[in-house]
Amino acid sequence: MNIHEYQAKALLAKYGVSVPRGHVAYTPAEAEQKARELGGPVWVVKAQIHAGGRGKGGGVKVVKSLDEVTAAAKAMIGMNLVTHQTGPGGKEVNRIYIEEGCDIARELYLGVLLDRATSRVTLMASTEGGMDIEEVAAKTPDKIMRVAIDPACGMQPFHARRLAFGLGLEAKQIGAATKFMLAMYKAYVDSDASLIEINPLVVTGSGDMIALDAKMNFDDNALERHPDIMELRDETEEDAREREAARHDLNYIKLDGNIGCMVNGAGLAMATMDIIKLYGGEPANFLDVGGGATEERVTEAFKLILSDPDVEGVLVNIFGGIMRCDVIAEGIVAAARVVSLQVPLVVRLEGTNVDLGKKILSESGLPIVSSDDLADAAEKIVHEVKEVA
Ligand code: ADP
Ligand code: MG
Repeated sequence: MNIHEYQAKALLAKYGVSVPRGHVAYTPAEAEQKARELGGPVWVVKAQIHAGGRGKGGGVKVVKSLDEVTAAAKAMIGMNLVTHQTGPGGKEVNRIYIEEGCDIARELYLGVLLDRATSRVTLMASTEGGMDIEEVAAKTPDKIMRVAIDPACGMQPFHARRLAFGLGLEAKQIGAATKFMLAMYKAYVDSDASLIEINPLVVTGSGDMIALDAKMNFDDNALERHPDIMELRDETEEDAREREAARHDLNYIKLDGNIGCMVNGAGLAMATMDIIKLYGGEPANFLDVGGGATEERVTEAFKLILSDPDVEGVLVNIFGGIMRCDVIAEGIVAAARVVSLQVPLVVRLEGTNVDLGKKILSESGLPIVSSDDLADAAEKIVHEVKEVA
């Protein structure tokens, strides 16, 4: 789960991470009042969406009067903000953050994340703050420093000092930087976060270290331990279909392509997406219906896939191990009737009761293309979708 910048800053501040003073606002009038409370003389009006790159897209505005705060708020609230992270569709801005302006001397980068290669919480730091860190990693990987933390000992001051020296901080800033990083690490571990990113971490004109931006992601599987964090969820930022899927215990992730996939098991789902791409197609989603799905769940999964207007064809790839192929087939037929299937459907079933499953499909009278192996199924659906287009 993601949260907004202002929420992440509030959470980090509780752990002792320094952040600028600021208030969230939902209307221009509220924005003006909050700006008045902050007192100026410089304010920054920031669009709150679950995506970065707002600065370049017009979602961060530095202003010098209350009138300008109101004008910026009017322009931002309700706007569709497009950044390189939102995708071309952009995101609607519903809330803004009014923050005190900061005197920036240097912009650095600091991140805490789980490095799956070493299975360790890892701190990343770079002098290239304010930039797109993925780009820095791709073009100048030597500008990113990493420190992996041994879970048995946790983070120690020397870890932080190593990064602080690497960032070229002055001697008098090392203490503050160490405190900052230890606080971030504690916030990460305590809240079961999966990512904290401070980009930029700034050194101010007077030498203080402040988190000017903050992004936090949390491990969904640990959220039940954190009711306070769960309350920060902003459902308007989430994909409506992904929410619907979660309600039915389906693992669904929307993707950019046009071939809807219904698969059981995450590994098989990944393999299915790979093979679709191998044959020149693009998956419209990742969908794992799970091992013990019922007919109802298959029906819900099917409805979900077909409710996506980008879907021009569907590939069902099910291995009936725990789940029986006849149950899947019944689900597919029932769902195809409910939603009056308009796009090509290729089904590959294998496993328990496969013959019965195939019989149910062929006797349904629905225009289902049956296939015996994954490569053949992927080739067929890619071909069918191209035929229609
Ligand atoms: P994003 O990463 O989404 O573009 P940021 O919060 O990082 O948004 O803001 C973009 C840039 O705007 C920062 O790199 C910084 O230069 C400037 N900025 C952001 N907040 C402030 C602030 N409170 N005071 C001064 N400048 C700011
Ligand atoms: Mg940023």
